Amino acid sequence: DTKAFTADQVPQAPRQQRPQASDHGMQTVTLIPGDGIGPEISTAVMRIFEAAQVPIQWDERNVTAIQGPGGNWMIPPNTKESMDRNKIGLKGPLKTPVAAGHPSMNLLLRKTFDLYANVRPCMSIEGYKTPYTDVDLVTIRENTEGEYSGIEHVIVDGVVQSIKLITEDASERIAKYAFEYAVNNQRSSVTAVHKANIMRMSDGLFLRKCREAAENYKDIKFTEMYLDTVCLNMVQDPTQFDVLVMPNLYGDILSDLCAGLIGGLGVTPSGNIGTNGVAIFESVHGTAPDIAGADLANPTALLLSAVMMLRHMGLHAHAQRIQTACFNTIQDKRVLTKDLGGNAKCSEFTAAICERV
Ligand code: NAD
Repeated sequence: DTKAFTADQVPQAPRQQRPQASDHGMQTVTLIPGDGIGPEISTAVMRIFEAAQVPIQWDERNVTAIQGPGGNWMIPPNTKESMDRNKIGLKGPLKTPVAAGHPSMNLLLRKTFDLYANVRPCMSIEGYKTPYTDVDLVTIRENTEGEYSGIEHVIVDGVVQSIKLITEDASERIAKYAFEYAVNNQRSSVTAVHKANIMRMSDGLFLRKCREAAENYKDIKFTEMYLDTVCLNMVQDPTQFDVLVMPNLYGDILSDLCAGLIGGLGVTPSGNIGTNGVAIFESVHGTAPDIAGADLANPTALLLSAVMMLRHMGLHAHAQRIQTACFNTIQDKRVLTKDLGGNAKCSEFTAAICERV
């Protein structure tokens, strides 16, 4: 008794401020191929879009870290201009040096464009064997503050303080987004994930804003649950969850856990939603340096992120066609990349999807 993606279950971004692509005109999307396997999986997506005759043209940009005059790290101005103009971006993985050098460019992109909501739908893919076959949930993570405020300092030798920043505005914004998302995507419940029993003031504020938002969405069932209880329940029975909304760090961890339930980061899409219609869709896995350049990468996560992007842009028919082609290819099992249990190259898997669109 397997449940998987169907046409009417597919997640969709709220309607407001969504740039609309006309059926006739081409819309331009900023493409950031990224590092490692990024260029390979980006090429795969471009080929599949071409085969499906998606009315999109790509404005390809790099994101190499550069330092401004004051020493501040920033994304290259021409990449920012491209995003400001196009509003919609698709991004491959970017490498981050460990503990020194430039900060995470992913973080910088989120800050630059105020991408406050990280949205990750996790749904079982039929025919792809995973611990569960009927997962269908969405994690919505506050993306700009919380434990990742970036405020850290040494108090005295051997003692470091890291600030968890929770604001009323950001909590209100993400809570409202979660309920709007639920309404726009025919979802029935929102669970606020928190530790307000321990972090009474910070998580307390977050939770209060979720409760207040819930008051305005009486048709959506609202529940609240401690993070540890969510983890326990999630691995015992993920089907009890629908939309989950939470502060930054909890979302970072819980969304990866949920990805594990459906087969890992190689098949998990994500979107980062900002204000004024700006949104960047990205695969959540890293640059996979161990297989980069070997034509072995699985492009599914970036492709499904691109499918989320198409729905965000109102290109539903194209989104559905590509998604169905991707899932049918996986279900068919004849041409699969190594991480999916096969021995096909990335380019062969891509060609198999192209044949189906
Ligand atoms: P990783 O996700 O790159 O790799 C972990 C394992 O998963 C590797 O064995 C890799 O081969 C495999 N893998 C990942 N994506 C795959 C795909 N699409 N197809 C097939 N196999 C895949 O994680 P890591 O090794 O911890 O990180 C490598 C680099 O990526 C680091 O510099 C890190 O900072 C960066 N990173 C970037 C992002 C992002 O841009 N969103 C996310 C995570 C890590």
